[in-house]
Amino acid sequence: MTRILVVGCGFAGATVARELADAGWEVDMIDQRSHIAGNAFDEIDCNGIRIHRYGPHLFHTSNKRVIDWIARFGEFVTYEHRVQARLPDGRCVVLPINRATINDVFGVTLNDSEAVRAFLLTQAVDIAHPANAAEYLATKVGVILSDLFFRPYTRKMWGLDLEDLDASVVKRIPLRYDNEDRYFPGETYQVMPRLGYTRLFEVILDHPCIRVCLNQSFDASMLRGYVHCFNSMPIDAFFDYRIGRLPYRSIRFHHHTVRFDYGCGSAATINFTDAGPLTRETDWTRIQGHVVRQGPSKTITREEPCDYSENNHERYYPVKTSDGRYQVLYSRYKALAAAVANVSFIGRCGTYQYLDMHQVISQSLAHVSAWIDQRRSSGSVKGSPLSSSSEPSGRFACTPNIGLSAGS
Ligand code: UDP
Repeated sequence: MTRILVVGCGFAGATVARELADAGWEVDMIDQRSHIAGNAFDEIDCNGIRIHRYGPHLFHTSNKRVIDWIARFGEFVTYEHRVQARLPDGRCVVLPINRATINDVFGVTLNDSEAVRAFLLTQAVDIAHPANAAEYLATKVGVILSDLFFRPYTRKMWGLDLEDLDASVVKRIPLRYDNEDRYFPGETYQVMPRLGYTRLFEVILDHPCIRVCLNQSFDASMLRGYVHCFNSMPIDAFFDYRIGRLPYRSIRFHHHTVRFDYGCGSAATINFTDAGPLTRETDWTRIQGHVVRQGPSKTITREEPCDYSENNHERYYPVKTSDGRYQVLYSRYKALAAAVANVSFIGRCGTYQYLDMHQVISQSLAHVSAWIDQRRSSGSVKGSPLSSSSEPSGRFACTPNIGLSAGS
């Protein structure tokens, strides 16, 4: 047996599949959806606008290994994401909170970073060891800014109060003392695939040793046909939820056609800080390369978070509470997984982590290269990439190439 099964055609599965294929293994990939690219899937809609079906995916990383790997499969264009927060009174201000934001919100005139630091010290609460998102934010920006920018938004995003949320979730949002207004200010590479993510995935998976089978759910009986399985399905589902369910937040996307001149400012995304059901609105035309055919109309997309059970079991965000209760449950699943020698769990749902795309690629590269090295040292890899092609799994009809046109 020389074939490997990869479950899921998102970033985790595609990274692993391509590395395995390049190392000489034959790979069958399955995905229960009808398309590749996982949650990064994009397509061109009736307004001629490239939209991301599962919400905006903005590629950013400082990891050279990741950018070098992904750049092998397509051209990238620079895109620096900017966000505005719409306050309950209707004013729009810069997010991340920066000098201009503080001047706007408090009606002050702070002229430099030192003045901003000094001002925030008057707001901040002294807590030696912040135990949750509320306490972390209180130490950084104080209660007024926390309650304005984070409390209602977090409540609708997670269905949790800031006190119940792990601080790492809000630490994703930088705090700036200067006038830097990019959403990912520290990242060296802020780019988008020129022809979209779907096209990028087509190229990653275009390899004679990779076969892709869509509309195919995982079944444990498939494992018998393979030497190993890299699995990005939800780890609790793999074990039939035997010790409980790992929760996820999901998003309902509401797409609207509006006049092309709708909106103002330059930010692609507006976050809604009020207590209404929506978290944000994205104007795709403000993202580099997303106007494919310009007409009189364009598409904007609004996001309404919910529990995944209310959205066709679409899992987007693992939930990380301040008491770590779901991480404890995940570690019990991880212990069960350790006893299944021929399956490795990968990606957001396989490892129950709130990972960005670049982190998924980085972890997947590390994981699969360790596996390949271990196999090489035990002498079990074939010499040539096609040396085992006479041994099809025969379990399901896979195609050598995917040939999708959406988004390309
Ligand atoms: N957040 C918030 N207000 C905002 C933006 C973010 O309270 O305007 C909090 C919220 O809890 C959110 C987290 O910060 O889930 C991380 O935000 P990010 O924009 O990184 O979320 P993602 O892009 O992954 O959906």
